[in-house]
Amino acid sequence: MKTYDFVIIGAGSAGCNVAHYLQKKGKKVAVIDQEGVAGGGSGAAGAFLSPLPGKANPYNTFVNEALAYSLAFYENFAPHAVVKKGVLRIANANFDDGKLSSSAIESRFVSAERLQTLSPNFRKIDGYFYENAAILNPREVCEELLRGSDFYKQDVKELWFEDGFYLFGEVRAKNIILAQGVLKPLVQTPYIEIAPIFGVKIDIKTSTKVPFNIHKSISISTTKSDGTVAIGATKERHNTAKMECLTSCDKCAFYVNTEAGQVETLLREANELIKLEDLEITKVHRGARATIKSYFPVIGKIYDFDASLKKYPSIKNGTKIPPNLLECHQNAYIINALGSRGFVLAPYLAKILGDNILHETSIPKELSSEKLFYKMARQS
Ligand SMILES: Cc1cc2nc3c(=O)[nH]c(=O)nc-3n(C[C@H](O)[C@H](O)[C@H](O)COP(=O)(O)OP(=O)(O)OC[C@H]3O[C@@H](n4cnc5c(N)ncnc54)[C@H](O)[C@@H]3O)c2cc1C
Repeated sequence: MKTYDFVIIGAGSAGCNVAHYLQKKGKKVAVIDQEGVAGGGSGAAGAFLSPLPGKANPYNTFVNEALAYSLAFYENFAPHAVVKKGVLRIANANFDDGKLSSSAIESRFVSAERLQTLSPNFRKIDGYFYENAAILNPREVCEELLRGSDFYKQDVKELWFEDGFYLFGEVRAKNIILAQGVLKPLVQTPYIEIAPIFGVKIDIKTSTKVPFNIHKSISISTTKSDGTVAIGATKERHNTAKMECLTSCDKCAFYVNTEAGQVETLLREANELIKLEDLEITKVHRGARATIKSYFPVIGKIYDFDASLKKYPSIKNGTKIPPNLLECHQNAYIINALGSRGFVLAPYLAKILGDNILHETSIPKELSSEKLFYKMARQS
């Protein structure tokens, strides 16, 4: 039997970043995933690291703080896997020129004429250029993050807790962290309602050199060192009530039926921004992002909803019971709902969660599992 301080379920961006953080702090960490490393949503990701423009509000302030932290982290940790050439944002229905130009993040306007001097393949577009943006190789980054931790390929069907340890075959740990993305949670957390947003990203070869990332409703990457360009990503919400599961397996209609239409959409929208010549699709990636209603991700302890309400039924009427008195699944933590920005958010969240577990530092309210627990408890 091999004993670890932490077992993390899920080797996506969330799990790998938390593993790296804890391992660097001297903890013995194992990561388990049924698919291999970055086999879920993370393997399908852009992975574009872009600022969120607009007047400062709690959500874009959080995203932009996370971006600054994560960019510095990746540039230091895996410089070869990061291409940082900025992003040109073109106005769209959600971000009109007013929003882009009055953004809390510094940008500069680039005219259509100026773009033509950079590449005659640019269509008649103009936009706002943000310096602090990049693209990563998601799989390479996840694999590197796991150096120093042990990896086990295993489908964990249920949690087994005995004598103070969680058991996974020949592996055991005192603490577990669930970083499961859209897959069925191993612990009932009715207050964290994960909804998947499915999407397709493609890698292409083209003779057109793309000088920086371009973003409108879809994103086109700058030409990477291997000559490829990534175009991503489509966004498709499914009626989760009708879905048998949220998995990324071949039983899901999305994975069976929708590829051709989605690839067409990506190519059409990309070609409205820049003419991509001698284009050849080299790979199509499909995956699902985990989201919750608030858009914020969720980290923290895993509260036992039913047991806590049984112990303190007055929570339903608004009585304030301190979180340390709630019933928790012992030494179990969650990191999930990273949405469409998993690579932007994960290093930042890993630090906040890691410090919370190791040093009991606080978790900002809007990110905490505790907040979601109380919200649902008071509505029930
Ligand atoms: C098409 C697409 C494009 C995207 N583009 C970007 C982008 O440009 N920039 C960006 O920052 N983000 C992007 N994202 C979002 C990003 O990929 C996600 O936010 C991020 O991958 C979430 O990581 P995760 O670790 O939470 O989940 P995942 O990567 O889905 O990892 C969860 C893992 O848990 C494993 N697992 C779950 N349950 C079990 C179990 N019981 N036993 C064993 N293993 C289990 C799964 O196999 C899976 O590998 C994109 C996502 C998609 C789908």
